[in-house]
Amino acid sequence: MSDTKTNKVVTKSKSGEKEKTSKICISCGKVIKGQFVRALGEVYHLDCFRCIDCDEVCVSKFFPYKEDGITRPLCETDYFRRLDLICAKCGGALRGPHINALNKKYHLDHFTCTM
Ligand SMILES: [Zn+2]
Ligand SMILES: [Zn+2]
Ligand SMILES: [Zn+2]
Repeated sequence: MSDTKTNKVVTKSKSGEKEKTSKICISCGKVIKGQFVRALGEVYHLDCFRCIDCDEVCVSKFFPYKEDGITRPLCETDYFRRLDLICAKCGGALRGPHINALNKKYHLDHFTCTM
C-alpha cells in the first residue's frame, strides 16, 4: 500500500540532490541542462563533445588523445591520422592489419597494382 509511495519519494530526493550539483561543460564552461556526455573524466554538452581536429560531434565513437596534459576527444579518422594510420587509397582508418609500401599505408584489399 505505501510501498509505491516510498519508492517514489526516494527517487525524487535522489534527482533533487543531483540537480543541486550543477554540471559545467568543460568545453564551453556553461551549465549543463538536459543531455550530457560523461567522458575523459569530464562532462560535456552532447553538442560540445567534438573532435579537436575536424570539429565534428563524436559522441558515439571517439578516441582519447592526450596533448599538453589534457585529454581531448578525437574522432576515429583523426585519431588514426595522428598515428599516421590512414589508408593512402581510401583515406580511412587502418584499424587492422595493413600494408606498408613506399612510405604509404593501405588496407590489405586497397593495395592494388596501379600501373
Ligand atoms: Zn558545452
Ligand atoms: Zn575528427
Ligand atoms: Zn583503404
